[in-house]
Amino acid sequence: MNLHEYQGKEMLASYGVAIQKGIIATNLEEAVAAYEKVKEDSGSGVVVVKAQIHAGGRGKGGGVKLAKNIDELKEHAGNILGMMLKTPQTPGGLEGEGKLVRKILIAEDSYVPTFESCKEFYVSIMMDRAKKCNVIIYSTEGGMNIEEVAEKTPHLVHKEWIHPHLGLQPFQARKVAFNLGLSGKAFKEMSKFITKLYAAFVGSDASLFEINPAMLSGNDDMIAVDCKVSLDDNALFRHPELAAMRDTDEEDPVEVEAKSHGLNYVNLDGNVGCMVNGAGLAMATMDIIKLSGGEPANFLDVGGTADAERVEKAFRIILRDPEVKAILINIFGGIVRCDRVAQGVVDAYKNIGNIPVPIIVRLQGTNADIAKKLIDESGLEVRSAILLQEAADIVAEVLA
Ligand code: GDP
Ligand code: MN
Repeated sequence: MNLHEYQGKEMLASYGVAIQKGIIATNLEEAVAAYEKVKEDSGSGVVVVKAQIHAGGRGKGGGVKLAKNIDELKEHAGNILGMMLKTPQTPGGLEGEGKLVRKILIAEDSYVPTFESCKEFYVSIMMDRAKKCNVIIYSTEGGMNIEEVAEKTPHLVHKEWIHPHLGLQPFQARKVAFNLGLSGKAFKEMSKFITKLYAAFVGSDASLFEINPAMLSGNDDMIAVDCKVSLDDNALFRHPELAAMRDTDEEDPVEVEAKSHGLNYVNLDGNVGCMVNGAGLAMATMDIIKLSGGEPANFLDVGGTADAERVEKAFRIILRDPEVKAILINIFGGIVRCDRVAQGVVDAYKNIGNIPVPIIVRLQGTNADIAKKLIDESGLEVRSAILLQEAADIVAEVLA
């Protein structure tokens, strides 16, 4: 689950990470009130208006604007609220349709008072799967496009790997500050910033933090000016206050619906709908579809209890995708009995009525033979298979 910038900052602040302060607004009236409050608190009438969408690169798309007075604030807030913001990261990129901006953050201007001497750094934390531990990636080249920095000047991007049991060691936090060329107070502040940031990462069960820019002010204070936070969905139950931050407006509506039925669904670009019990089997199914010349239209794990109701929900979700030209159901009956799943498929098919695409069912495991018989004798337009390759061949045949 991704957080908005303002939510991520709220979470970081709860771990003692210094942030660029701001107030959220959903309309012009709230924006004006937020401006007055930020002005009062910061003692400066200069604020930055920031679109809140789940995508980075907002500055490039016109979603981050400096307002030096109330008139500029009204102008920018008016323009940004309700706009379809296009950034390199919104669907379709700068040529796409963009994302609707429903909320803006009115934040104090962290730069202007000390503009001469402040520095922008890049800091992110994520899991390095190859090394099986978390890694802190950091660079002096913050604020701008880090992908470009990594490509053109890779020596300016540093990495610090964190031992999973020992955690971040004090010398590592100092090493980061050292490699960023800092000394004196700035060195200490950066070490503290990294230490708190890492504590927040572990404490919130995050899978990604990206602070770009992390700013060193003219007074040598470290502030998170922007943040991108992704949390591990499977750990959200431990963080009800973070789970409550979910913004379903920002998510794929079909995926949101699937989740509400306990289905693990990810929409993909292909033409073969997949319905599978178990994530590993789902991955294997997608592989064999590809090997047989098809392209998976989705990842869908119906979970352990593939009963009629779930199978029907799964059918309806797969059929929302107009690209789907065939559906492959691949169930391994370990705990669940295949004949019950087969009955579920038959019942769901009858409930939905006319399913416009061919369905191929491969059931393997407990009572697979009874299940095959049940499907074959149902009189429905469903083809059954026992071997996965057999099923994949039928898919290839119906697509041809
Ligand atoms: P992103 O484009 O989605 O990554 O959004 P950011 O929050 O990183 O903002 C984009 C850019 O706007 C930053 O890299 C900064 O250069 C600039 N920016 C952000 N906050 C401020 C601020 O308080 N004052 C000024 N002058 N510029 C800011
Ligand atoms: Mn940024």
